[in-house]
Amino acid sequence: MTPPATPVRNSNAERDIANVLHPYTDHRAHAKNGPLVIARGEGVKVWDDQGKEYIEAVAGLWCASLGFSNHRLAEVAYEQMKKLPFYHAFTAKSHEPLIDLSEMLIERAPCAMSKVFYANSGSEANDTAIKMVWYYNNAIGKPEKKKIISRLKAYHGITIASGSLTGLPANHKMFDLPVGDRFIHVSTPHHYHGAKPGESEADFATRLAQELEDTILREGPETVAAFFAEPVMGAGGVMVPPATYFDKIQAVLRKYDVLFVADEVICGFGRTGNYWGCQTYSITPDIITCAKALSASFLPISAVIINDRVFQGLADGSSTIGTWGHGFTYSGHPVAAAVALETLKIYDELNIVEHVNKVGAHMQAKLRERFEGHPLVGEVRGIGMVAAMELVADKGAKKNFEPSAKVGPRLAKLGEAEGVILRGLANDTIAFSPPLIMKADEVDEMVERTGRALDALAVQLRRESLT
Ligand code: PMP
Repeated sequence: MTPPATPVRNSNAERDIANVLHPYTDHRAHAKNGPLVIARGEGVKVWDDQGKEYIEAVAGLWCASLGFSNHRLAEVAYEQMKKLPFYHAFTAKSHEPLIDLSEMLIERAPCAMSKVFYANSGSEANDTAIKMVWYYNNAIGKPEKKKIISRLKAYHGITIASGSLTGLPANHKMFDLPVGDRFIHVSTPHHYHGAKPGESEADFATRLAQELEDTILREGPETVAAFFAEPVMGAGGVMVPPATYFDKIQAVLRKYDVLFVADEVICGFGRTGNYWGCQTYSITPDIITCAKALSASFLPISAVIINDRVFQGLADGSSTIGTWGHGFTYSGHPVAAAVALETLKIYDELNIVEHVNKVGAHMQAKLRERFEGHPLVGEVRGIGMVAAMELVADKGAKKNFEPSAKVGPRLAKLGEAEGVILRGLANDTIAFSPPLIMKADEVDEMVERTGRALDALAVQLRRESLT
């Protein structure tokens, strides 16, 4: 019998359309428009398979902190693969990369921490943190204390539990999330949209802390276990918290004995101008989740760092039932751990926090100078080397465009034509989170290319009578 004829598909684009189901993609539009196939990277730039060069304004997905060509990390991975390509950490097995990395993370933690657990992604780290909180409360004899509070527009991942923590409609609506009745969302700390006319940042923060307290009292403090927060909210739109917000929030959490889980998946390792976002906002977390820049994204690895209070609960629980029944095949994978360890050494050598403070200040100033006065831009916001500009239809009324106009995605497309990869978030918010190694002149080029794309968009929208 002759085998069925396979259609001949030559180009990367055709083969992609035929075979790949992409994350975060409109599948029908993709079938028409095809992919942007990235072939290689160097420094803060990547090139597509046609040879066109782009500046990466978002470090991929806020993660390629050391850019795209750090050969030291490649060599460390190769050496570790030759020595011990895999071992696990179940049933007390261990290996040196795991031990060294954990010691280093505990040393660097923003407050006294006790142990580190590993997973492969930010979502898994947050799922793990949720399970830790539940296990902890079972272990300490508070089985009713299980509800978890996060914020609308938070991004904590997409697995069933971490996706429930996330506060974005696209992650909830069609997936029947949040699951169960343990996930509660409070307001987004975004002064630009959330504050009443004339309300100061401090007054807005007081109101949000009161909302949190009212929520805890409504649910019953004996049922509320933890509060999850990104120090700076990332994928939901780069929302920098209003002044005094975290001080007031933490006072409420302490009052009702609610654990603080800091999601440092974007903020960790220098992004906000301190080693941790927690340090930027004087947060003392019980649990920290981190990923992305932990390995400069050369390999997938995430970590959950816990304080001794949480550890003692987990330890009591595991000795009662004989195990802590949680772990991934690749928890603390030796190659990923070796790469993460080397990444942290490189941050030290580069003095990455100092670098972010210097180049971040330049980036924030440059973005404001170029975009704040632009007719399409409602707000430019950010701190350190994370920022965003929000496009609006009406600056005075802070009114966004209709989502169907797809203004953000259109700017991202025009950016590609100009040689800059941009990421459009909800509310046509364009994120900037470049590799942490970006230099001032590269920031200038990124802003310049983005500016040309924005000007082109303004011409298009005027032509279409959308402005
Ligand atoms: N938390 C935060 C703050 C994130 O930004 C992300 C991813 N953008 C996640 C969690 C989820 O990480 P992952 O995509 O690796 O599951």
